[in-house]
Amino acid sequence: MKDTSCTNANHAIECTVKECKHHCSGENYCSLNKIRVGTHETNPTKPDCTDCNSFQVK
Ligand code: SF4
Repeated sequence: MKDTSCTNANHAIECTVKECKHHCSGENYCSLNKIRVGTHETNPTKPDCTDCNSFQVK
């Protein structure tokens, strides 16, 4: 059965976090219209320092 969230795939937001309830399973895209990205570091220096703050666990 097709995941209904994939009808809303936002091709401007690629994402591989399948554990997020906004992720389009089967497609590596977010289903939200927009997301908020933040950091947990004082001085971010690499991708690992950033977070999707719109993440919600399934
Ligand atoms: S909310 Fe963030 S983590 Fe979740 S699917 Fe969208 S981009 Fe990925």
